[in-house]
Amino acid sequence: MNDYQAVPELLKDKIILITGAGDGIGAAAAKTYAAHGATCILLGRTVSKLEQIYDEIIAEGYPEPAIVPLDLNGATPTHYDQMAMTIKDQFGRLDGILFNASILGHIGPFGDIEPDQWQQIMQVNVNSAAFMLKSLLPVLRASEQASVIFTTSSVGREGRSFWNGYAVSKFATEGLMQVLAAEYANRNIRFNCINPGATQTQMRASAFPAEDASTLKTPQQIMPLYLYLMGDDSIQVNGQSLDCQPKK
Ligand code: NDP
Repeated sequence: MNDYQAVPELLKDKIILITGAGDGIGAAAAKTYAAHGATCILLGRTVSKLEQIYDEIIAEGYPEPAIVPLDLNGATPTHYDQMAMTIKDQFGRLDGILFNASILGHIGPFGDIEPDQWQQIMQVNVNSAAFMLKSLLPVLRASEQASVIFTTSSVGREGRSFWNGYAVSKFATEGLMQVLAAEYANRNIRFNCINPGATQTQMRASAFPAEDASTLKTPQQIMPLYLYLMGDDSIQVNGQSLDCQPKK
């Protein structure tokens, strides 16, 4: 899929929310979506990082984004309802969501994870997406064709030792995607997962500190699949979990 060539105006006039838009893959996706005409809603917990992405998008002359500072660990359904109301007032609809924000949490023996660490992983990686989505369904329904992309991982498809709560959260992400894809089949919202594969980011560096990061794909290099699934070229694709990089 990395040879997919998006037309420059692929996302023209689309309103797209990206979680974890301040860094790593989310930052690359926000800039790439904006470059293809989208108005991006940049959600993340570190305001300075979101402002940096906002400035980069404006400097390129792309559509002005919006910033939503929110810590997904502490956010409640009330926050998401308020966000949905603001999106409805400001834009009238939402055409896409990239659920990208995640934390690794404790990588190591299962017996060593603390209950509060486990809860935090589930809160940020799974519950926040489910509750946010529940609030945002009405604005997604107002779109002609909406695309919701979740972010999975290889460890969310096949159990692997020491990946702990992170892996379990990605299995849950795949499950959430499948349930919604089945429920909304043949309607105006499609749901899919992307597995980025090993990518040069902070998260990858903390999981594999001894690795030579220069051997990995950059976030920018894996963007073709992010564009394909967000744009209308993938209108028939629903309920799939797709890889940015071939399995080794
Ligand atoms: P990074 O750690 O580089 O970025 C994660 C982003 O999520 C950051 O912008 C971070 O914000 C945000 N975030 C984390 N916690 C919260 C929170 N509580 N509230 C709001 N925002 C939060 O990760 P990657 O870019 O590497 O990962 C992106 C996605 O890709 C994740 O879902 C990850 O699981 C998945 N993935 C990544 C792989 C890789 O090799 N990089 C491989 C397989 C899957 P802040 O910067 O403010 O902390």
